Amino acid sequence: MTATDLFIDNEWRAGGDGTFDVVDPATGRTIRPVSDGSEADAVAAVDAAAAALTTWRRVAPRERGEILRRTFELMIRDRDELGELIAAENGKSLTDAKGEVTYSAEFFRWYAEEGVRMGGDYGVAPAGGTRTLVTHHPVGVAALVTPWNFPAAMATRKIAPALAAGCTVVLKPAAETPLTAFAIARLMVEAGLPEGVVNIVPASSASKVVTRWMEDPRVRKISFTGSTGIGSVLLKQAADRIVNSSMELGGNAPLIVADDADLDAAVEGTMIAKFRGGGQACTAANRLYVHADVVEEFAARLGAKVASLKVGPAADGSDIGPLINAKAVDKTSKLLAGALEAGARVTHEASVPSDHADGFWFAPTVLVDVPADAEIVHEEIFGPIAPIVSWTTDEEVIGYANDTEMGLAAYVFTGDLQRGIRLGEAIEAGMVGVNRGLVSDPAAPFGGMKQSGIGREGARMGLEEFQETQYLSIAWPED
Ligand code: NAP
Repeated sequence: MTATDLFIDNEWRAGGDGTFDVVDPATGRTIRPVSDGSEADAVAAVDAAAAALTTWRRVAPRERGEILRRTFELMIRDRDELGELIAAENGKSLTDAKGEVTYSAEFFRWYAEEGVRMGGDYGVAPAGGTRTLVTHHPVGVAALVTPWNFPAAMATRKIAPALAAGCTVVLKPAAETPLTAFAIARLMVEAGLPEGVVNIVPASSASKVVTRWMEDPRVRKISFTGSTGIGSVLLKQAADRIVNSSMELGGNAPLIVADDADLDAAVEGTMIAKFRGGGQACTAANRLYVHADVVEEFAARLGAKVASLKVGPAADGSDIGPLINAKAVDKTSKLLAGALEAGARVTHEASVPSDHADGFWFAPTVLVDVPADAEIVHEEIFGPIAPIVSWTTDEEVIGYANDTEMGLAAYVFTGDLQRGIRLGEAIEAGMVGVNRGLVSDPAAPFGGMKQSGIGREGARMGLEEFQETQYLSIAWPED
């Protein structure tokens, strides 16, 4: 059965502020009410995490790794069930939801392996007379705040490295999608999670819980994934106590198709980069820059694929679901209207089911003749619109790609790998897909440049985000 209460100290507790509703974006109807965490619950979660830290940080890395490894196995065992839960509260298709479960589970496997290779360093001071011993320690209690667009992956990408490093955590999932986080907690308990190591407090108002954590001297780390605006608010709060901060923020990914690209591969990559999860990914291709020589052909091939997308509820076996809420539909509609006013044309559109009027639906759309300075290419759309801008020289398209304060992901399609690397290196983005529309990989550093974030998740770096480095300078009289 799906849990609906707060998860503190391995107990399911009613929230101090009553309940709030989790809504199915495909119908607009309540899935179920969930406990609403209060400030007192936020404190209780830190009490549990701080108490557990004293022992968890000393648990052997292998033992911690075994719990993570078992969680990976349990998530894979329950992949279908977890996928259905993600699809229910987020709205994405079952294919996308189950793909997310696999991706999310992989963070447990990766950090089960990475956590047993803590490493360190031992050196001889250049001047002699001293030895240097470098070790890594858990940063302490970590506050994790996650968005709704990947309800499982954004949580596991933080929980797994934090626990591998020896930290304990308090997590506030997005109010739209807390059920998946609870389901993962259940599996972690089954995997042997000790009390207090992971604590989950959703709330109808994020700030009442998170601000309390930011003020609590026992919380040493904030790891946030969400919008750049809220990231900025949290960084200001972190400044007061110099809280160690990792920020995974908004994106505005350019996707470049060169004149020498394999157009079938480019279209296939674009379908993934643009339409996975209905375009509601931080790495989503936000603006397509297609060389003038191939723009017509590319738009026609992409448009044919988009027009044939099956839009509908996940349970109907759809390719693409609704947006997350009415606000998202409103924002996406306004961006589309603005682009049309600026001279863009709709070439293709998928049809939205007329029998699901109460959900938050938006038709996947392809736009051509989009002016390079249109609002839609400068704002993060977070919806299934593919605006196409054409270009003629590499210098021109690099200028377009970098004309933003965001720098999370980018995509380049070209038949010339050297050109792909040259373009990729010239783009100010933390992750560049070359001839592919997906950059996420637990073994690779995920994160952004400029206002897209600070720090990296995944890979070795994801573990280091939850560690402090210490060195001992040891007097070493030479013989
Ligand atoms: P959001 O509004 O910033 O919310 C993210 C999280 O922050 C949610 O848990 C939210 O809680 C919480 N929050 C909201 N206001 C807060 C406050 N004042 N203090 C503390 N926490 C607060 O972002 P979103 O709309 O959920 O997600 C979309 C954004 O996330 C996009 O910009 C996307 O690019 C970005 N994103 C980035 C990455 C990455 O890895 N770089 C990955 C995924 C998404 P509530 O749900 O209760 O409001």
